[in-house]
Amino acid sequence: MSLEELYKEVILDHYRSPRNKGTLNEADIELHRDNPLCGDEIDLYVDIKDGKIAGVSFDGKGCSISQASISMMTEKLMGMSQEDAEGLANTFKAMMQGEDPQDEDSLGDLVALKGVQKYPVRIKCALLGWNTFLEGLKSYREKHGEPA
Ligand code: ZN
Repeated sequence: MSLEELYKEVILDHYRSPRNKGTLNEADIELHRDNPLCGDEIDLYVDIKDGKIAGVSFDGKGCSISQASISMMTEKLMGMSQEDAEGLANTFKAMMQGEDPQDEDSLGDLVALKGVQKYPVRIKCALLGWNTFLEGLKSYREKHGEPA
């Protein structure tokens, strides 16, 4: 199996069996965003306790890239500190925008989405969940008086 095929399998696996799908009852971050270019829609739920991501889930529909990317994101963010989670989101964005982030190793399975950068229209699909998370985190901090 080529690396490209392996990556495709990872994406399809998350698309077919999304992780952490559903709502969270006590979410500190609850945000609906869409990507009208492609028809992707997501609702993101994040529960923050003691500065850590204590729970994260999503609901959504759309293309395999958007849904797989957010499914992988929820797996990664669980248990992370806000700062690490934000760092990972920015590293992932840098990779998708064609930069070579120094800490690419921290991305793990997420490199499976790197090939998407060849299709500029799909980059928005891959970033939908992550941008929603960063936006939600920013307003959470503003609400709680922490520097954004
Ligand atoms: Zn899409």
